[in-house]
Amino acid sequence: MNKIIMHIDFNSYFASVEQQANPHLRGKAIAVAGKAGGDITRSVVTTASREAKARGVKTAMATWQAKKLCPELIIIPGDPQKYAEVTARFLIVCNKYADAVEQFSTDEVFIDVTTAADNYFGASMLALMIRRDLKAACSSVCTVSIGIAPNKLVAKLASESVKPNGLTVVRPHEVADFVKSRPLADFCGLGHSTEKRLAEIGVTSVETLRAVPRAKLINLFQSHGTWLADAAHGLATDILEDDNAAPKSIGHSYTFPHDLHTLPEIKKNLLAMCDRVAWRLRQQKMVALRLAVYVRYGNFGSDGCSKLLNTPISDGLTISQNAWALLSPHLNLTRGIRLISISVSEFRTIKLPTSLFRKDQKMQRVVNALDTVQTKFGTNAWHRASTVHTKFLERTSGWHYDHLAMANKS
Ligand SMILES: [Mg+2]
Repeated sequence: MNKIIMHIDFNSYFASVEQQANPHLRGKAIAVAGKAGGDITRSVVTTASREAKARGVKTAMATWQAKKLCPELIIIPGDPQKYAEVTARFLIVCNKYADAVEQFSTDEVFIDVTTAADNYFGASMLALMIRRDLKAACSSVCTVSIGIAPNKLVAKLASESVKPNGLTVVRPHEVADFVKSRPLADFCGLGHSTEKRLAEIGVTSVETLRAVPRAKLINLFQSHGTWLADAAHGLATDILEDDNAAPKSIGHSYTFPHDLHTLPEIKKNLLAMCDRVAWRLRQQKMVALRLAVYVRYGNFGSDGCSKLLNTPISDGLTISQNAWALLSPHLNLTRGIRLISISVSEFRTIKLPTSLFRKDQKMQRVVNALDTVQTKFGTNAWHRASTVHTKFLERTSGWHYDHLAMANKS
């Protein structure tokens, strides 16, 4: 059965969120660049508003260059937490209507609407409902472009073809013609270097790409050649990496801005990371039986080990104590630690064994209470006193070590 895939993409995402947050910025040329407290004159543009784009301001342009093009440009430092909150609301809306959801980036998702929509007319209706709900949930300033097609490649090409606020439907019999009308640079998965190499053999459009024999493409680009030959005809995968499917492991690794040399510093950071891993584990309503910890030294040597535990774990302190017990006998402090990675796996959905000891029961009640606070007020709602200066900020793409807080501290 042919699938129906929808690609939803926010237009000028960070800039729109900033314009929604501050009405004085609406209708003006703004650019999001750098971060709070940083030197934005030395940053590059992350996102330009629609008004700034009209003046030629582009993503990845140096801010001084953007200012030269558009002197009235207002530069706003990026606020990842603000964007993550809007993205969370965006995902709630998408989940409401989809069979499966794959978050592709902070402001883009693929959703499988095959059974939810039944046919392309139904999918178009669904797109309008999603747009209405996003307006209510995220803002009236943020707009999305939506593409509907039989696979991910064409759905993304479709959403990209009309911006801002577009809705483009490409039915299976329209795929070949639609794909032919798109520039190669718009193909997600066809990077600059491939484009350059294709140009060297005279391929500058979909039409010229179709004329190259498949065997020649495979010869030149190996497995990517097969992908190119298929993409030229709009053939690509329709399988989503469903974010709602149960994960096999939960973990986090982080490269520190400077090597860690002291035991308290390592323990503190390890605990902060374990608290986050534990929180994600409890959100899945699971406990873990296996723990793995890995460190990389400043000179790129590494150490790591994993262990199957006797008692399932789900709170940060216990995970961190176990991780420390595993790691500390191997640790070579003279080398300085560049990266710490921690992960838990072998999940069970059972509840933690209710301990006979009053101290353990008390701890479980504290963890439950903290989870309630965190669910209501977000990831940064509480910190252990011992991890106050190891501030990790959550991003949709992983975790972000707060370099600024570290710099202010030292
Ligand atoms: Mg976008």
